[in-house]
Amino acid sequence: MTQHQLLLRLQDLDGQMARLDEQRRRNGLSAYQERLERISEELNAKMQRLGVLEAALSDDGLPALEQEIRALQASIAKSSSYDTALLKSQLTPLEQKKAELEDLTLRNMLEFEELQPQLPGLRESLAEVQQELEEARPEEQERLDNLAMRLEAMARERAELTGLLPTDVWQAYVKTGRVEEIKQGRCRCRLEVPDHFQRQIRAGNAWVCNTCGSLLVQTLKP
Ligand SMILES: [Zn+2]
Repeated sequence: MTQHQLLLRLQDLDGQMARLDEQRRRNGLSAYQERLERISEELNAKMQRLGVLEAALSDDGLPALEQEIRALQASIAKSSSYDTALLKSQLTPLEQKKAELEDLTLRNMLEFEELQPQLPGLRESLAEVQQELEEARPEEQERLDNLAMRLEAMARERAELTGLLPTDVWQAYVKTGRVEEIKQGRCRCRLEVPDHFQRQIRAGNAWVCNTCGSLLVQTLKP
């Protein structure tokens, strides 16, 4: 392998390794994990709301209010005509309050009855996604192992290649990270490379383009 072939292969390897490394950093299970989180959140919110509704329904304040109304009605029945008007004026807001409480209790009951049957379905979805996640785990591990293996092989090849390069060429490559071929006496950025530099490059010297900063190699005769 000539020096320019080495450099091109090195650049190719570095590109591939960067892509594989990016794939390795990607979490192949995130779709499952996001779904799990969404369902859990929904389930928790509904369970919490059901708890609130249950507490409100078990103690809606109606019995106490009804008792108060009955007592007041009894007083009205026994009262003198002078007191009756006053007592009746006290009764009106209590009856209003009772109607409001009954409305609220009815609404709470309807909401409770709507929410409660949703829980089994949500729990089922949660279990399903959890199972899918567990089933996907080995495949994801296999994918990661495979990537690690390929990266390791590439790293070995890279080390071999860099060991074959003269230090100054290697350092120029590390600095620029980019290799360009001279075509028709020009760099890819169109800069014309003088003949004596082209000879030096063919002889294996490091030469970095002033304009675009690429490390230049020559594969074809100019
Ligand atoms: Zn250039």
